Amino acid sequence: MSKNPQRFTITAALPYTNGPIHIGHLAGVYVPADIYSRFLRMQGHDVAFVCGSDEHGVPITIKAKKEGVTPQDVVDKYNGIIKKSFEDFGVSFDNYSRTSGKTHHDTASAFFKKMYEDGKFIEETTKQLYDEKAQQFLADRFVTGTCPKCGNEEAYGDQCESCGTSLNATDLINPKSAITGAVPTLKNTKHWFLPLDQYEDWLKEWILKGHKADWKSNVYGQVKSWIDDGLRARAVTRDLEWGIPVPVEGGDGKVLYVWFDAPIGYISSTKEWAEREGKNWEPYWKDENTKLVHFIGKDNIVFHCIIFPVMLKAHGDFILPENVPANEFLNLEGKKLSTSKNWAVWLHEYLEDFPDQQDVLRYVLTANAPETKDNDFTWKDFQARNNNELVAIFGNFINRVIVLTNKYYNGVVPEPGEYSEVDEKTIAELKAYPSVIASSIERYRFREAQGELMNLARLGNKYLADEEPWKLIKTDEERTKTIMYVALQIASALSIISEPFLPFTSAKLKKMLNQSDENSDNTPDWDIIGTREALIPPGQQIGKAELLFSKIEDEQIQKQLDKLEATKTANAMEDQRAEPQKEIATFEDFTKMDLRVGTIIEADKMPKTKKLMVLKVDTGLDKRTVVSGIAEHFKAEEIIGKKVTVLVNLAPRKLRGVESEGMILMTENADGKLVFVNPDEDGVKSGTTIN
Ligand SMILES: [Zn+2]
Repeated sequence: MSKNPQRFTITAALPYTNGPIHIGHLAGVYVPADIYSRFLRMQGHDVAFVCGSDEHGVPITIKAKKEGVTPQDVVDKYNGIIKKSFEDFGVSFDNYSRTSGKTHHDTASAFFKKMYEDGKFIEETTKQLYDEKAQQFLADRFVTGTCPKCGNEEAYGDQCESCGTSLNATDLINPKSAITGAVPTLKNTKHWFLPLDQYEDWLKEWILKGHKADWKSNVYGQVKSWIDDGLRARAVTRDLEWGIPVPVEGGDGKVLYVWFDAPIGYISSTKEWAEREGKNWEPYWKDENTKLVHFIGKDNIVFHCIIFPVMLKAHGDFILPENVPANEFLNLEGKKLSTSKNWAVWLHEYLEDFPDQQDVLRYVLTANAPETKDNDFTWKDFQARNNNELVAIFGNFINRVIVLTNKYYNGVVPEPGEYSEVDEKTIAELKAYPSVIASSIERYRFREAQGELMNLARLGNKYLADEEPWKLIKTDEERTKTIMYVALQIASALSIISEPFLPFTSAKLKKMLNQSDENSDNTPDWDIIGTREALIPPGQQIGKAELLFSKIEDEQIQKQLDKLEATKTANAMEDQRAEPQKEIATFEDFTKMDLRVGTIIEADKMPKTKKLMVLKVDTGLDKRTVVSGIAEHFKAEEIIGKKVTVLVNLAPRKLRGVESEGMILMTENADGKLVFVNPDEDGVKSGTTIN
């Protein structure tokens, strides 16, 4: 037990209830949060590990509309699936709540009301995007358009997923309604804004100065760039029906912005847990000695490092997060995981194909965790790590120890004799592992920590391979006893230290060694490994060997690869399906478009953007600047001199400060690569009209 038990509130990002969860969620948030929480409990700390389903917001209402059901139907369905996946994978939440529940509605409502009464919001009537056809205001995911920062043409009204910038819907260039496709108009509506700009100095002091050393560099860097860019007031209410009603005068027909209510869900979930356990929830959120840690993916950094802390600070009485160890993204076979494109390994499907092999997935996801950069999950790597590490090292060592102990001593731990030099060294190494692994976990380096766990199994495996008790038993029974005793100590240590990482394996192993939790008197804890002489004492009866891990065959992997290949084919067919014909245009409409043949004479990638390229085009009329989103598909040198089709009388618009005077016509091939619509016949001159 830890000498200084502390109170921890650990939160894991609330999963959004418009679909099941996949390996990316598990790797990015839930496995690391679970390792951390399980470790802290083993150290004797007081831990509240909370989560719940995030059930409000626009995407759920869009999905409900599409499926012809109510938003409540959508969230009920996925809340069930998600909750079961967490249970199946051993994620040890103390409470899993839902934001559509009463406790949460009351808590979030009261939170808003107090901030309102304390004058923490700015009340403003502003023009918001409105869809005349749907008779509805458009915000968040109801509207898409071009990101003013990076030029991504599919940015949402609250965030650009390409560059991570948080946006207001009115920031989008060429906004379009996601409901009807209509171009929105502007209409007056009243909302409440959180003046983030007023907290800039405080955020600089608290994060940029206060957490420079202890926050992960990917998190700190993102936060710094947002603060350096300058923060703006953000609306925390929406014109929407689905959500938590705005509980103040003038709030009719409006709800709290989903990103305002969701993080309060951590508090609601803690309340539910405390009530059930007969505890007081308040110290977990208000006592300065409590350590609050948020586990999230990198797309949530702005909300957990800027917006939620500002809310907590503005509300008063609450503690702030001590750390926000956000992970980067996990890719699948080299491509970005995508729920809508079904490019994912769904947890409930994984268990159908690999029953009882939860720990294998937990292991591989931690071994490959995107802790500091995006990382890739491949099925070949999954197979290799299972077969070469879990089976060949961990499983093999344990199997030998248990089988030989049963064979030689009827399963009774033998009395050791004098230690040899190798024994002394092996035991000393063993005793050093718990503190090494603890130190990695405390610094949120779960990958490194799990690597050390496997090194401990390697130590055992090598010890047995070098000492060869199966040969020695014929010539030196006394020495064999000592070897088996030492090996059993390593097995016992593995059963304990593996618990945060491989909880199912740990439980099986403890049972085999007769050190199960029910038998807690003889279950050594984490720190005792480093100090106590015998982890498993001579004379203790152990059980029979059970298989911990089994080999994964090529056919099983091929089946998964085939599944992904089928998804690829289905997506390609979907992409190739022609879009429906647009509304009829008159001949006059068409003749308004002045299309010309142009020649690209200069091309430069726009700095700090992924997609944009600044082109100088000879249109025959003049040489003008056109900004085009082609930088991911072409290098400057391959397009200079190219003949292109230019719409020359398109109203000029500014993209990242550069005025674009026209548009180059593009289409795309089956692989999604852009191609020019080009008049490449010899002798066609720049400036020639196209009609
Ligand atoms: Zn962007």
